[in-house]
Amino acid sequence: MAKLIDGKLISAQIKDEVKAEVSKLKESGVTVSLAVIQVGADPASSVYVRNKKKACEYCGIESLSYELPEETTEEELLDLIRELNKRADCNGILVQLPLPKHINEERILDEISPLKDVDGFHPVNVGCLSIGKPGFVSCTPAGVIELIKRSGYEIAGKECVVIGRSNIVGKPMAMLLLKENGTVTVTHSKTADLKAVTKRADILVVAIGKPKMIDASYVKDGAVVIDVGIHRDADNKLCGDVDFESVEPVAEAITPVPGGVGPMTIAMLMKNCLTSVELQK
Ligand code: NDP
Repeated sequence: MAKLIDGKLISAQIKDEVKAEVSKLKESGVTVSLAVIQVGADPASSVYVRNKKKACEYCGIESLSYELPEETTEEELLDLIRELNKRADCNGILVQLPLPKHINEERILDEISPLKDVDGFHPVNVGCLSIGKPGFVSCTPAGVIELIKRSGYEIAGKECVVIGRSNIVGKPMAMLLLKENGTVTVTHSKTADLKAVTKRADILVVAIGKPKMIDASYVKDGAVVIDVGIHRDADNKLCGDVDFESVEPVAEAITPVPGGVGPMTIAMLMKNCLTSVELQK
């Protein structure tokens, strides 16, 4: 039986570490704060925003909440971001995605100061990650690294295969595994023989966006399998990109869905709020 990598437990440890750090900073007169901006009232976004605010409260991070109407214009949102960029009482800025269709997401994300970009999406931070300079790292892939390391698995020297090359998961994931001295291969929809590549992986990170697509036939015996995917199946139950029942018997370790990568994203966001204080010094 594979070891279950417990994202709930590890994320709780990380939030407790952040909470202790935030409290130390408070004693020295420094408050940590995060501005959370939501435009419109998409129900899924509202749940994510609520969870982020709850995590802030738990860690002692002050959250500045901006719930803007659906009709907010791109210029109005840009003005708010420019104001928050300047404010000393705001360390991090998070714009909940997706934004309404009339707003250009890329333009908005590029306007956030790279020193307050706690989601790690700004091109400056993406560049810093690829050349090994300090900066913000996208929360989900950063959380995957924590899951692997805190579960006791070595990355250095291992064959690491990432399925997916999106800007928020696949690409930063590959960069982070490389930084940890893994031998990294990135696969995507044009990869000629996906199974031949994934079968080589000691560590397989799956971010393909297809419910339960990766079964045991893609996985080497004894691999560590990290499932980034999150979907609802036909019975409305949460599932990942990995077919858990099929892969679990062959893997050395595996993340469940829910309770694997999901909770790590918010924990790493809290960690990035601490990074923001460091970077702004
Ligand atoms: P995207 O849809 O942006 O990217 C999917 C990637 O998978 C693309 O690079 C695509 O290739 C590749 N792909 C698609 N089909 C195949 C195929 N048949 N064979 C090989 N590669 C394929 O998804 P994201 O990266 O944003 O997210 C991935 C998953 O992770 C989703 O399920 C998402 O819901 C989840 N997610 C979970 C988070 C969490 O907190 N747990 C956070 C973010 C995402 P190509 O580039 O060629 O199109």
